[in-house]
Amino acid sequence: MRRPFIAGNWKLHKTVAEALELVNTLKAELADIDDADIVVAPVFTALGRVAEALAGSNITVAAQNCYPANSGAFTGEVSPPLLKDAGCRHVIVGHSERRQIFGETDPFINAKVKALMAEGLTAIFCIGETLEERESGRMFDILRRQVSEGLRDLDAAAMAGVVVAYEPVWAIGTGKTASDEQAQEAHAFIRGLLQGQFGEKTAEKTRIIYGGSVKPDNVDGLMARPDIDGTLVGGASLKAVDFVRIARFRRS
Ligand code: PEP
Repeated sequence: MRRPFIAGNWKLHKTVAEALELVNTLKAELADIDDADIVVAPVFTALGRVAEALAGSNITVAAQNCYPANSGAFTGEVSPPLLKDAGCRHVIVGHSERRQIFGETDPFINAKVKALMAEGLTAIFCIGETLEERESGRMFDILRRQVSEGLRDLDAAAMAGVVVAYEPVWAIGTGKTASDEQAQEAHAFIRGLLQGQFGEKTAEKTRIIYGGSVKPDNVDGLMARPDIDGTLVGGASLKAVDFVRIARFRRS
């Protein structure tokens, strides 16, 4: 059994005060959940305060990005050791917004994953095809490339520190969720890729979570699928009532 991993990606939203208000509600509302990992990813400026507010709770903190060097002349960047120092346990890498808006490549994302491994932080490693790639029949090739290059040189042991997030780009922030069948098909394919690259045992253990317009009304169907081990939630993670319902998905 893979432990569910439910993460909220707040993107560029919330002041420190707003972030604290949200996590204080989540902390109270989700305190009894002990059979899933619950994660929030605030903006950098709120990370330290959110981590302090959540210390000792069952909710852990992720950053939304990192730079693959520990320190140095990299103006504007933040490194894995500094994120760890701020109280982070996980970092989102390879999000489609970073690939598309900031031009991040598979090798750069791979360098970030390795930098996180060196620091003992979990990489929430995002992959996914665009609508054009899906409709032109290239979806599986794209996923294959993203997995093989993004996780290049990692060994099976390192994969304990990786959660793969399948996020079809056409479903992110659009209100258009992949159907349960589409998501399951992609997740099963990704698990097959992990099996080829790291072996069956590791593929069976690795959590593959789904992201793309996850909402209270579609989470249960997605989570009922055998290869969907959690969710990466954008918009709906900004509202306590929605994220609480998602974290309390109904197990069937
Ligand atoms: C995301 O930010 O990774 C995401 C999936 O966003 P949304 O849930 O808003 O589609």
